Amino acid sequence: MENKLLPALIVGAGPVGLSTACELKQHGIDCRIIDKKPEATQTSNALGVHARSLEMWAGMGIVEQALQQGLKLQGITIYDQAIQPLITLSLEKLLPSAFPYVLSLPQSKTEQLLTQHLASYGLTVERSCSLTSLEQSKDYIIAKIKHTEGSIETINTQWLLGCDGYHSSVRDSLNIQYEGNDLKQEFIMIDAPLTWQKESNKILIFYHPSGITAVFPMVDSSRIIIEVSNDKSFNANISLTYTTFLSILQNRWPFEFSLGKERWMSHFFIHERLANHYRFDRIFLLGDAAHVHSPAGGQGMNTGMQDAYNLTWKLALVIKEQVNPSLLNTYEEERRPIAKKVLNSSNQMTKIAVLRTKIAVVLRNFLAKNVFSNKKLQQKFALQISGIANNYRHSFLSKDYVKNSCLKAGDRAPTIIKNKKFTLLIAEDCLDKEKIIRLIEINYIQLVGWQILSINNEQYTLYQLNKSYCLIRPDQYLASQGSTYEHLKDYLVRFLIQ
Ligand SMILES: Cc1cc2nc3c(=O)[nH]c(=O)nc-3n(C[C@H](O)[C@H](O)[C@H](O)COP(=O)(O)OP(=O)(O)OC[C@H]3O[C@@H](n4cnc5c(N)ncnc54)[C@H](O)[C@@H]3O)c2cc1C
Repeated sequence: MENKLLPALIVGAGPVGLSTACELKQHGIDCRIIDKKPEATQTSNALGVHARSLEMWAGMGIVEQALQQGLKLQGITIYDQAIQPLITLSLEKLLPSAFPYVLSLPQSKTEQLLTQHLASYGLTVERSCSLTSLEQSKDYIIAKIKHTEGSIETINTQWLLGCDGYHSSVRDSLNIQYEGNDLKQEFIMIDAPLTWQKESNKILIFYHPSGITAVFPMVDSSRIIIEVSNDKSFNANISLTYTTFLSILQNRWPFEFSLGKERWMSHFFIHERLANHYRFDRIFLLGDAAHVHSPAGGQGMNTGMQDAYNLTWKLALVIKEQVNPSLLNTYEEERRPIAKKVLNSSNQMTKIAVLRTKIAVVLRNFLAKNVFSNKKLQQKFALQISGIANNYRHSFLSKDYVKNSCLKAGDRAPTIIKNKKFTLLIAEDCLDKEKIIRLIEINYIQLVGWQILSINNEQYTLYQLNKSYCLIRPDQYLASQGSTYEHLKDYLVRFLIQ
């Protein structure tokens, strides 16, 4: 082998590839990131950044910049045909998070933010560089890259991360099936300044008999999406114009408004697909390369960035030879079921939104108004779309040695912990406290950081420590809870090191 072996090559510099590169660098792993496009995304595409992604950005140290550039959307209101509110959700009251809202931030800005963060680690995206072929040998991967001027470079890499989107060539080259459907509904969208009298910090949805219309405010513009599957005034074979969009909107939208000049317009269908595997030996799939769903709920980019957050710390520990490589099996085990759940829920939301028959519409609106007003149901929905409800309770990595009535191993950590290692929160009244600290300091100091929490500490109560300890993973999920030296030793040896 003539080339130096690279620890990791990331193919694709969308939000998921960039998150992957930032996190690998933050864990001290040398990597390269390539993208076939000459420049980053210039349009707004994925607009909604949910609470769990903002918590992840807080852990990465970039949330403040994001909040400065975005608009906090505090809730959602859905109107029926008679312009009566069917559902009013106030996220602030429903989300137990430091970020109880959806941050409206164009994907172009998200990519800019991540690119700048990556630059702070001394890494830049290699643009106009396309992956053309892959070959796996026993210990590494041989990737052929085509540069703009036509030259072909061979990169030998230990691990390859396919973050190359819906049309992933990494996935295709592995013959991994991408199972699912394309929905028959058609939508048009525009980004343009919208002036009207409704709240500018809420997502507004209007159920019109001809199809749903949704408005997502941005800092200096608005995204408007209209379902046009049955709209005779729209012809998919003729490219969409501002005049056509405006006239469809005027026919549908019951409120007085004025619409400024368009910044971006598009026409789209919905794809719903899930890769049957996320890993093939030394190659992983993340983001749209692994799953794609309806934009209902704004989950695509959010789910993809969480894939990156889940995989990178595991891969970093394996590359540093600090844990057993079988840890990497938990990536697919933990993340694929979540994508499956997101696919099902966004599919249901889309189907409910595009109901047509009179009886179905009456029933939907009745249930929305009378059943969905229940606070518990609203909270369940808000926790789900924000990503906060996701947990890894069924993962091989989640193990409780003591009972805790509020938290279980695999749950999201209720506080933001900035640590690239595992964090051990130890109750000051834990009987084995000293032995546990000695175990960490002597054997696991590179893997685990620790803090003693006094009984009066807010976190002591939040984690219900009660003479015990709580071990938190680098991606801010609970790994294990226990109370003795033997519990902790068993976990570290059995689940991570063996
Ligand atoms: C109109 C619209 C609205 C959306 N709204 C939301 C939302 O509100 N919230 C949300 O979470 N999601 C939303 N999404 C979905 C979101 O945009 C995607 O889920 C997200 O972009 C996926 O990120 P990714 O990095 O996996 O893939 P991509 O963004 O597709 O990036 C993949 C990258 O890989 C590169 N690439 C491909 N092949 C190669 C190759 N062979 N070699 C090198 N590079 C390659 C591509 O050039 C591209 O830059 C929306 C999408 C659209 C279109």
